[in-house]
Amino acid sequence: MRIPICTPTLSGKEWEYVKECLDTNWISSKGGFIEEFENRFAEYVGVKYGVTTTSGTTAIHLALATLGIKEEDEIIIPAFTMMGSVYPILYQKATPVLVDAEPDTWNMDTNKIEEKITKKTRAIMPVHIYGHPCNMDPIMDIANEHDLYVIEDAAEAHGAEYKGKKAGSFGDISCFSFYANKIITTGEGGMLVTNDEETYEKAKKLRDMAFTKERRFLHHEIGFNYRMTNMQAAVGLAQIEQIENFVEARRRNAKLYNELLKDVKAITLPPEKEWAKNVYWMYSILINDDKFGVTAKELMKKLSEKGIETRSFFVPMHQQPLFHKLGHQFKGNYQISEKLCDSGINLPSSSSLTENEMIFISKQIKNYCNKGC
Ligand SMILES: *Cc1c(COP(=O)(O)O)cnc(C)c1O
Repeated sequence: MRIPICTPTLSGKEWEYVKECLDTNWISSKGGFIEEFENRFAEYVGVKYGVTTTSGTTAIHLALATLGIKEEDEIIIPAFTMMGSVYPILYQKATPVLVDAEPDTWNMDTNKIEEKITKKTRAIMPVHIYGHPCNMDPIMDIANEHDLYVIEDAAEAHGAEYKGKKAGSFGDISCFSFYANKIITTGEGGMLVTNDEETYEKAKKLRDMAFTKERRFLHHEIGFNYRMTNMQAAVGLAQIEQIENFVEARRRNAKLYNELLKDVKAITLPPEKEWAKNVYWMYSILINDDKFGVTAKELMKKLSEKGIETRSFFVPMHQQPLFHKLGHQFKGNYQISEKLCDSGINLPSSSSLTENEMIFISKQIKNYCNKGC
Protein backbone atom coordinates (compact mmCIF):
# COMPACT_ATOMS: atom_id res chain seq x y z
CA MET A 1 0.00 0.00 0.00
CA ARG A 2 1.27 3.48 -0.89
CA ILE A 3 -0.07 6.79 0.31
CA PRO A 4 0.23 9.17 -2.65
CA ILE A 5 1.20 12.82 -2.22
CA CYS A 6 -2.03 14.08 -3.75
CA THR A 7 -4.86 12.53 -5.77
CA PRO A 8 -8.00 14.03 -7.31
CA THR A 9 -11.41 13.34 -5.76
CA LEU A 10 -13.95 12.72 -8.53
CA SER A 11 -16.94 11.93 -6.39
CA GLY A 12 -19.53 14.33 -7.84
CA LYS A 13 -21.23 14.68 -11.21
CA GLU A 14 -17.99 14.43 -13.27
CA TRP A 15 -19.10 11.29 -15.08
CA GLU A 16 -22.63 12.55 -15.73
CA TYR A 17 -21.44 15.85 -17.21
CA VAL A 18 -18.67 14.31 -19.34
CA LYS A 19 -21.14 11.74 -20.66
CA GLU A 20 -23.42 14.60 -21.66
CA CYS A 21 -20.59 16.07 -23.80
CA LEU A 22 -20.07 12.75 -25.55
CA ASP A 23 -23.78 12.05 -25.97
CA THR A 24 -24.41 15.48 -27.51
CA ASN A 25 -21.21 15.64 -29.63
CA TRP A 26 -19.96 18.85 -27.93
CA ILE A 27 -16.35 17.85 -27.29
CA SER A 28 -14.33 20.87 -28.47
CA SER A 29 -14.05 24.25 -26.80
CA LYS A 30 -17.50 25.16 -28.02
CA GLY A 31 -20.20 23.85 -25.74
CA GLY A 32 -22.21 24.90 -22.75
CA PHE A 33 -19.97 23.74 -19.94
CA ILE A 34 -17.19 26.24 -20.73
CA GLU A 35 -19.10 29.39 -19.87
CA GLU A 36 -20.96 27.75 -17.04
CA PHE A 37 -17.68 26.69 -15.42
CA GLU A 38 -16.11 30.12 -16.04
CA ASN A 39 -19.09 31.89 -14.49
CA ARG A 40 -19.35 29.59 -11.50
CA PHE A 41 -15.65 29.74 -10.74
CA ALA A 42 -15.39 33.53 -11.15
CA GLU A 43 -18.39 33.92 -8.88
CA TYR A 44 -16.74 31.69 -6.28
CA VAL A 45 -13.60 33.84 -6.33
CA GLY A 46 -15.70 37.00 -6.19
CA VAL A 47 -14.60 38.35 -9.56
CA LYS A 48 -16.69 39.25 -12.61
CA TYR A 49 -15.11 37.33 -15.49
CA GLY A 50 -13.34 34.00 -16.05
CA VAL A 51 -11.42 32.76 -19.10
CA THR A 52 -10.57 29.06 -19.14
CA THR A 53 -7.25 27.92 -20.61
CA THR A 54 -5.32 24.71 -21.23
CA SER A 55 -3.24 25.01 -18.03
CA GLY A 56 -2.18 27.29 -15.21
CA THR A 57 0.99 28.10 -17.10
CA THR A 58 -0.95 29.16 -20.21
CA ALA A 59 -3.36 31.19 -18.04
CA ILE A 60 -0.35 33.16 -16.77
CA HIS A 61 1.03 33.52 -20.28
CA LEU A 62 -2.33 34.74 -21.55
CA ALA A 63 -2.48 37.22 -18.65
CA LEU A 64 0.94 38.67 -19.52
CA ALA A 65 0.12 38.87 -23.24
CA THR A 66 -3.25 40.50 -22.49
CA LEU A 67 -1.56 43.17 -20.36
CA GLY A 68 0.97 43.80 -23.13
CA ILE A 69 4.03 42.56 -21.23
CA LYS A 70 6.93 42.53 -23.68
CA GLU A 71 10.70 42.46 -24.09
CA GLU A 72 12.64 44.60 -21.57
CA ASP A 73 9.72 44.67 -19.12
CA GLU A 74 10.52 43.51 -15.60
CA ILE A 75 8.13 41.41 -13.53
CA ILE A 76 8.69 41.07 -9.78
CA ILE A 77 8.17 37.49 -8.58
CA PRO A 78 9.08 35.46 -5.50
CA ALA A 79 12.39 33.57 -5.69
CA PHE A 80 10.60 30.70 -4.00
CA THR A 81 8.03 29.47 -6.53
CA MET A 82 7.72 26.87 -9.27
CA MET A 83 8.63 27.31 -12.93
CA GLY A 84 4.99 27.52 -14.00
CA SER A 85 4.96 31.10 -12.66
CA VAL A 86 8.14 32.00 -14.50
CA TYR A 87 8.18 30.38 -17.94
CA PRO A 88 5.43 32.69 -19.23
CA ILE A 89 7.62 35.72 -18.41
CA LEU A 90 10.34 34.17 -20.56
CA TYR A 91 7.84 33.37 -23.36
CA GLN A 92 7.18 37.12 -23.55
CA LYS A 93 10.97 37.79 -23.48
CA ALA A 94 10.44 39.85 -20.33
CA THR A 95 12.71 39.66 -17.25
CA PRO A 96 11.87 38.07 -13.92
CA VAL A 97 13.15 40.00 -10.88
CA LEU A 98 13.31 38.06 -7.63
CA VAL A 99 12.19 38.84 -4.09
CA ASP A 100 13.18 36.51 -1.27
CA ALA A 101 10.59 34.65 0.81
CA GLU A 102 9.60 35.80 4.29
CA PRO A 103 10.23 33.21 7.00
CA ASP A 104 6.77 33.25 8.55
CA THR A 105 4.52 32.78 5.49
CA TRP A 106 7.02 31.40 2.91
CA ASN A 107 5.53 33.93 0.45
CA MET A 108 7.30 36.90 -1.14
CA ASP A 109 8.60 39.32 1.52
CA THR A 110 6.56 42.48 1.05
CA ASN A 111 9.30 44.55 2.74
CA LYS A 112 11.71 43.64 -0.05
CA ILE A 113 9.59 44.52 -3.08
CA GLU A 114 10.15 48.26 -3.36
CA GLU A 115 13.93 48.02 -3.54
CA LYS A 116 13.50 45.89 -6.70
CA ILE A 117 11.41 48.40 -8.62
CA THR A 118 13.09 50.11 -11.58
CA LYS A 119 11.90 52.18 -14.55
CA LYS A 120 11.32 48.93 -16.41
CA THR A 121 9.09 47.28 -13.80
CA ARG A 122 5.60 46.64 -15.13
CA ALA A 123 4.01 44.15 -12.72
CA ILE A 124 4.22 42.33 -9.41
CA MET A 125 3.28 38.65 -9.38
CA PRO A 126 2.51 37.41 -5.88
CA VAL A 127 2.28 33.60 -5.63
CA HIS A 128 0.16 32.14 -2.82
CA ILE A 129 2.54 29.35 -1.90
CA TYR A 130 1.11 25.97 -0.83
CA GLY A 131 -2.29 27.57 -0.17
CA HIS A 132 -1.31 30.38 2.22
CA PRO A 133 -2.33 33.80 0.84
CA CYS A 134 0.21 36.58 0.39
CA ASN A 135 0.03 39.73 2.49
CA MET A 136 -1.99 41.60 -0.14
CA ASP A 137 -2.47 45.08 1.42
CA PRO A 138 1.18 46.14 1.18
CA ILE A 139 1.45 44.57 -2.29
CA MET A 140 -1.57 46.52 -3.58
CA ASP A 141 -0.28 49.74 -1.96
CA ILE A 142 3.11 49.40 -3.62
CA ALA A 143 1.51 48.54 -6.97
CA ASN A 144 -0.79 51.57 -6.79
CA GLU A 145 1.97 53.91 -5.77
CA HIS A 146 4.25 52.81 -8.63
CA ASP A 147 1.47 52.24 -11.18
CA LEU A 148 2.20 48.52 -11.62
CA TYR A 149 -0.06 45.66 -12.58
CA VAL A 150 -0.69 42.89 -10.06
CA ILE A 151 -0.99 39.38 -11.49
CA GLU A 152 -1.82 36.86 -8.79
CA ASP A 153 -0.60 33.30 -9.27
CA ALA A 154 -3.32 31.54 -7.28
CA ALA A 155 -2.64 28.11 -8.79
CA GLU A 156 -2.26 26.62 -5.30
CA ALA A 157 -4.83 28.69 -3.45
CA HIS A 158 -8.41 27.99 -4.61
CA GLY A 159 -10.58 29.17 -1.73
CA ALA A 160 -7.79 30.75 0.35
CA GLU A 161 -8.67 34.10 1.94
CA TYR A 162 -6.83 37.28 2.88
CA LYS A 163 -8.78 39.30 5.46
CA GLY A 164 -11.97 37.52 4.39
CA LYS A 165 -11.50 38.11 0.65
CA LYS A 166 -10.57 35.28 -1.70
CA ALA A 167 -7.10 34.89 -3.15
CA GLY A 168 -7.44 35.79 -6.81
CA SER A 169 -9.80 38.72 -6.21
CA PHE A 170 -7.09 41.38 -5.73
CA GLY A 171 -5.02 41.46 -8.90
CA ASP A 172 -5.71 43.05 -12.28
CA ILE A 173 -5.66 39.44 -13.44
CA SER A 174 -5.39 36.28 -11.32
CA CYS A 175 -4.51 32.83 -12.55
CA PHE A 176 -5.51 29.36 -11.39
CA SER A 177 -4.43 25.85 -12.35
CA PHE A 178 -6.69 22.81 -12.53
CA TYR A 179 -3.95 20.22 -12.84
CA ALA A 180 -4.92 16.87 -11.28
CA ASN A 181 -3.26 17.55 -7.92
CA LYS A 182 -4.71 21.06 -7.43
CA ILE A 183 -7.65 21.68 -5.08
CA ILE A 184 -10.11 21.36 -7.96
CA THR A 185 -9.14 19.78 -11.25
CA THR A 186 -10.06 19.44 -14.90
CA GLY A 187 -7.24 16.93 -15.53
CA GLU A 188 -5.18 19.62 -17.20
CA GLY A 189 -6.48 23.17 -17.36
CA GLY A 190 -6.42 26.67 -15.98
CA MET A 191 -8.34 29.93 -15.77
CA LEU A 192 -7.62 33.61 -15.53
CA VAL A 193 -10.11 35.86 -13.75
CA THR A 194 -10.52 39.64 -13.88
CA ASN A 195 -12.97 42.40 -12.99
CA ASP A 196 -12.12 44.46 -16.07
CA GLU A 197 -14.35 43.95 -19.09
CA GLU A 198 -11.77 45.11 -21.63
CA THR A 199 -9.15 42.77 -20.17
CA TYR A 200 -11.67 39.94 -20.30
CA GLU A 201 -12.53 40.57 -23.97
CA LYS A 202 -8.89 40.85 -24.95
CA ALA A 203 -7.93 37.64 -23.10
CA LYS A 204 -10.77 35.74 -24.78
CA LYS A 205 -9.68 36.99 -28.17
CA LEU A 206 -5.99 36.12 -27.69
CA ARG A 207 -6.93 32.68 -26.31
CA ASP A 208 -8.72 31.95 -29.57
CA MET A 209 -6.11 32.73 -32.25
CA ALA A 210 -6.79 36.49 -32.09
CA PHE A 211 -9.49 36.22 -34.71
CA THR A 212 -11.06 39.58 -35.51
CA LYS A 213 -14.75 40.23 -35.68
CA GLU A 214 -14.71 42.28 -38.89
CA ARG A 215 -13.30 39.51 -41.12
CA ARG A 216 -12.50 35.90 -40.26
CA PHE A 217 -8.89 34.87 -40.92
CA LEU A 218 -7.67 38.45 -40.59
CA HIS A 219 -5.26 38.97 -37.68
CA HIS A 220 -3.65 42.02 -36.05
CA GLU A 221 -1.99 40.40 -33.03
CA ILE A 222 -0.15 37.27 -31.92
CA GLY A 223 -2.84 34.90 -30.68
CA PHE A 224 -2.76 31.48 -29.06
CA ASN A 225 -4.79 28.33 -29.00
CA TYR A 226 -5.19 28.04 -25.24
CA ARG A 227 -8.81 26.83 -25.37
CA MET A 228 -10.08 24.34 -22.77
CA THR A 229 -12.38 21.58 -24.06
CA ASN A 230 -16.03 21.25 -23.08
CA MET A 231 -15.20 17.85 -21.53
CA GLN A 232 -12.62 19.42 -19.23
CA ALA A 233 -15.04 22.18 -18.28
CA ALA A 234 -17.65 19.49 -17.54
CA VAL A 235 -15.26 17.99 -14.99
CA GLY A 236 -14.52 21.48 -13.70
CA LEU A 237 -18.19 22.26 -13.14
CA ALA A 238 -18.66 19.05 -11.18
CA GLN A 239 -15.56 19.98 -9.16
CA ILE A 240 -16.63 23.54 -8.33
CA GLU A 241 -19.88 22.12 -7.01
CA GLN A 242 -17.77 20.31 -4.38
CA ILE A 243 -15.12 22.93 -3.67
CA GLU A 244 -16.34 23.82 -0.17
CA ASN A 245 -15.95 20.15 0.82
CA PHE A 246 -12.46 19.97 -0.62
CA VAL A 247 -11.30 23.12 1.17
CA GLU A 248 -12.84 21.88 4.40
CA ALA A 249 -11.11 18.51 3.98
CA ARG A 250 -7.75 20.21 3.41
CA ARG A 251 -8.21 22.31 6.56
CA ARG A 252 -9.37 19.32 8.58
CA ASN A 253 -6.27 17.38 7.45
CA ALA A 254 -4.02 20.25 8.50
CA LYS A 255 -5.66 20.50 11.90
CA LEU A 256 -5.12 16.81 12.60
CA TYR A 257 -1.54 16.79 11.29
CA ASN A 258 -0.80 19.87 13.44
CA GLU A 259 -2.21 18.10 16.48
CA LEU A 260 -0.19 14.94 15.79
CA LEU A 261 3.11 16.75 15.09
CA LYS A 262 2.98 19.75 17.40
CA ASP A 263 5.16 18.20 20.11
CA VAL A 264 8.04 17.52 17.74
CA LYS A 265 10.19 20.57 18.41
CA ALA A 266 12.45 19.91 15.43
CA ILE A 267 9.52 20.42 13.04
CA THR A 268 8.09 23.77 11.96
CA LEU A 269 4.39 23.41 11.19
CA PRO A 270 2.82 25.23 8.21
CA PRO A 271 1.92 28.89 8.73
CA GLU A 272 -1.49 30.46 9.11
CA LYS A 273 -1.38 34.18 9.85
CA GLU A 274 -4.23 35.76 11.83
CA TRP A 275 -5.41 37.49 8.63
CA ALA A 276 -5.23 34.34 6.54
CA LYS A 277 -7.32 31.35 5.63
CA ASN A 278 -4.78 28.78 4.47
CA VAL A 279 -6.26 26.04 2.26
CA TYR A 280 -3.20 23.78 2.69
CA TRP A 281 -3.01 22.72 -0.95
CA MET A 282 0.05 20.91 0.38
CA TYR A 283 0.51 20.13 4.04
CA SER A 284 4.10 21.24 4.39
CA ILE A 285 6.62 21.11 7.23
CA LEU A 286 10.20 22.25 7.80
CA ILE A 287 12.76 19.90 9.33
CA ASN A 288 15.37 21.46 11.59
CA ASP A 289 18.03 18.80 10.99
CA ASP A 290 20.30 19.72 13.94
CA LYS A 291 17.48 18.92 16.30
CA PHE A 292 15.73 16.29 14.22
CA GLY A 293 18.77 14.07 13.62
CA VAL A 294 18.20 13.38 9.91
CA THR A 295 17.86 15.83 7.03
CA ALA A 296 14.64 16.48 5.13
CA LYS A 297 16.06 14.54 2.19
CA GLU A 298 16.92 11.52 4.34
CA LEU A 299 13.51 11.62 6.02
CA MET A 300 11.79 11.60 2.62
CA LYS A 301 13.75 8.50 1.64
CA LYS A 302 12.80 6.74 4.88
CA LEU A 303 9.14 7.63 4.48
CA SER A 304 9.19 6.35 0.91
CA GLU A 305 10.43 2.99 2.18
CA LYS A 306 7.31 2.91 4.35
CA GLY A 307 5.07 3.59 1.35
CA ILE A 308 4.58 7.28 2.10
CA GLU A 309 5.03 9.53 -0.91
CA THR A 310 6.36 13.01 -0.13
CA ARG A 311 7.68 15.89 -2.20
CA SER A 312 10.57 18.27 -1.69
CA PHE A 313 10.02 22.03 -1.70
CA PHE A 314 10.59 24.16 -4.80
CA VAL A 315 14.13 24.93 -5.95
CA PRO A 316 14.41 28.74 -5.89
CA MET A 317 14.71 30.56 -9.19
CA HIS A 318 18.24 31.90 -8.63
CA GLN A 319 19.45 28.29 -8.30
CA GLN A 320 17.91 27.12 -11.58
CA PRO A 321 20.50 25.95 -14.13
CA LEU A 322 18.24 27.38 -16.87
CA PHE A 323 19.07 30.94 -15.88
CA HIS A 324 22.81 30.22 -15.83
CA LYS A 325 22.45 28.83 -19.32
CA LEU A 326 20.56 31.94 -20.41
CA GLY A 327 23.35 34.05 -18.93
CA HIS A 328 20.93 35.64 -16.50
CA GLN A 329 22.37 36.51 -13.10
CA PHE A 330 20.07 37.38 -10.22
CA LYS A 331 21.60 39.99 -7.92
CA GLY A 332 21.11 39.83 -4.17
CA ASN A 333 20.72 36.96 -1.76
CA TYR A 334 17.80 34.66 -1.26
CA GLN A 335 18.71 32.90 1.95
CA ILE A 336 15.20 32.26 3.19
CA SER A 337 14.21 30.65 -0.10
CA GLU A 338 17.32 28.46 0.06
CA LYS A 339 16.54 27.42 3.60
CA LEU A 340 12.96 26.52 2.65
CA CYS A 341 14.26 24.49 -0.28
CA ASP A 342 16.66 22.53 1.92
CA SER A 343 14.40 21.88 4.88
CA GLY A 344 10.86 21.63 3.50
CA ILE A 345 8.75 18.54 2.85
CA ASN A 346 5.22 18.25 1.48
CA LEU A 347 3.35 15.39 3.13
CA PRO A 348 0.40 13.51 1.59
CA SER A 349 -2.32 16.13 1.20
CA SER A 350 -5.27 14.70 -0.76
CA SER A 351 -8.77 15.81 0.18
CA SER A 352 -9.56 12.10 0.57
CA LEU A 353 -6.73 11.41 3.05
CA THR A 354 -8.00 9.44 6.07
CA GLU A 355 -7.41 9.97 9.76
CA ASN A 356 -5.66 6.58 10.01
CA GLU A 357 -3.30 7.50 7.20
CA MET A 358 -2.34 10.75 8.93
CA ILE A 359 -1.79 8.92 12.23
CA PHE A 360 0.43 6.38 10.44
CA ILE A 361 2.42 9.09 8.64
CA SER A 362 2.97 11.12 11.82
CA LYS A 363 4.08 8.04 13.73
CA GLN A 364 6.66 7.22 11.06
CA ILE A 365 7.99 10.80 11.14
CA LYS A 366 8.35 10.65 14.92
CA ASN A 367 10.18 7.31 14.59
CA TYR A 368 12.96 8.95 12.61
CA CYS A 369 13.34 11.91 14.91
CA ASN A 370 16.23 10.15 16.62
CA LYS A 371 17.27 12.75 19.15
CA GLY A 372 14.45 12.15 21.53
CA CYS A 373 12.23 14.94 20.25
C1 LIG B 1 0.67 24.27 -10.64
C2 LIG B 1 1.25 25.63 -10.68
C3 LIG B 1 1.38 26.37 -11.86
C4 LIG B 1 1.17 25.78 -13.22
O1 LIG B 1 -0.02 25.17 -13.45
P1 LIG B 1 -0.12 24.06 -14.60
O2 LIG B 1 -1.58 23.84 -14.73
O3 LIG B 1 0.61 22.86 -14.11
O4 LIG B 1 0.48 24.63 -15.84
C5 LIG B 1 1.82 27.67 -11.79
N1 LIG B 1 2.15 28.24 -10.62
C6 LIG B 1 2.08 27.56 -9.47
C7 LIG B 1 2.45 28.26 -8.22
C8 LIG B 1 1.65 26.23 -9.45
O5 LIG B 1 1.63 25.55 -8.31
